[in-house]
Amino acid sequence: MEANQFKDFAKEMIDYVANYLENIRDRRVLPTIEPGYLRPLLPEKAPNTPDKWEDVLADVEKVIMPGVTHWHSPRFHAYFPTANSYPAIVADILSGAIACIGFSWIASPACTELEVVMLDWLGKMLDLPSEFLACSGGKGGGVIQGTASEATLVALLGAKARTVATIKAEHPEWTDMHIIEKLVGYTSSQSHSSVERAGLLGGVKMRFLPVDDKDRLRGTALREAIEKDIEAGLIPFYAVGTLGTTSSCAFDNLEELGDVCNKHNVWLHVDAAYAGSAFICPEFRYLMKGIEKADSFNFNPHKWLLINFDCSAMWLKNPYWVVNAFNVDPLYLKHEQQGSAPDYRHWQIPLGRRFRSLKLWFVLRLYGVEKLQAYIRKHVHLAHYFESLVKEDDRFEITAEVIVGLVCFRLKGSNELNETLLKRINGRGVIHLVPSKIKDQYFLRMAVCSQYTEKEDIDLTWREIRDATDEVIDESTK
Ligand code: PLP
Repeated sequence: MEANQFKDFAKEMIDYVANYLENIRDRRVLPTIEPGYLRPLLPEKAPNTPDKWEDVLADVEKVIMPGVTHWHSPRFHAYFPTANSYPAIVADILSGAIACIGFSWIASPACTELEVVMLDWLGKMLDLPSEFLACSGGKGGGVIQGTASEATLVALLGAKARTVATIKAEHPEWTDMHIIEKLVGYTSSQSHSSVERAGLLGGVKMRFLPVDDKDRLRGTALREAIEKDIEAGLIPFYAVGTLGTTSSCAFDNLEELGDVCNKHNVWLHVDAAYAGSAFICPEFRYLMKGIEKADSFNFNPHKWLLINFDCSAMWLKNPYWVVNAFNVDPLYLKHEQQGSAPDYRHWQIPLGRRFRSLKLWFVLRLYGVEKLQAYIRKHVHLAHYFESLVKEDDRFEITAEVIVGLVCFRLKGSNELNETLLKRINGRGVIHLVPSKIKDQYFLRMAVCSQYTEKEDIDLTWREIRDATDEVIDESTK
């Protein structure tokens, strides 16, 4: 493609994108197609000669859009949000043009250096303890991972390296294998499935501990589990606390977990994938009280901070253990300035990495902290508004405290009734919700997800739920 064609194509695409997003409310949030819908719409083979870009663009609406779930529709309330914004989209265009693979400082110095500074900016926005920040001049620093799942695994591998080194110093005769089979990690029964997966990938035992009546992991549960394992000759080495659990957005008690972990030399990783963005607002920082006791902290600006996937921010107080855990250093990746700036390839699982800090830079500059805070506060306000609507209808109950942008609720009655209700709601196709279950109680989750969500959208969502409820109750009493 020539530059002139690229300019025409890209301009048309930008118009298409802006129209798509500005009118997304008018699209059905969930597609109606069946599995396999797409293959018949495409030729059997790639074209031998170039297609016209105009034809490709026209096919987006015909082939792709019928199979898109519109995550940025104000009527999409499933899972947790995924973010996007115009500045982040533009930054991704630039990243695509520079298209460097920033695995080491010399592989593209701006890629590494902007990331170091952006993670400091972001850390300061959250008021993270200075030990986590590169600008403090200590050991700490931040890195952009692709996902929270990767951050949890990377922290686990760092913790494993740290504990193996410590135990070997005490018992030089023990082999790595002998130590590793004794390692135990801890998290709550409510933590994200990626924590269990990190244990499997890392080849260590994980324990899933009971939560209190507000779905929070408390210090006592962790302490009892650790003491029991030590008594059995095992070696506690890693714990994951969640700030904003996926099912009900509960916040583990970090102060208590931190004390237990510090006492037993257990690495505490904090997974704040969704809710971490709220900490840019001072009024939500009480939820991260105790963060100074953690070894690593992670949240996803790509969930709730207007930055397109993928951008998962992770800070480590002492990256040495992570860097050490993955350090292989072939000659072709060495460079003369090694050691003077992070070589981020050592901080992550893959070698290659994109220029993701551009998205942070563009968004933080073009919104500014105050507008981002206003954005978070608006979502929380809309969640409380929805909560008030649910509370006015005594057929329903709220099942978890609404703290940020998620409302968990259910029809009073059986799980089956609620399952039927959810099927009806999603079947109507106007809004989209997903369920969860805690301690055998099935409930519905309404997350405020879209940057376009207004009070009228929440009214419509509630009307949809009430209409579906009327239908389901009508049918069940016939
Ligand atoms: N942790 C929590 C608490 C989550 O809610 C999620 C996803 O919603 C994840 C981890 C996984 O996030 P990612 O897709 O970035 O790995």
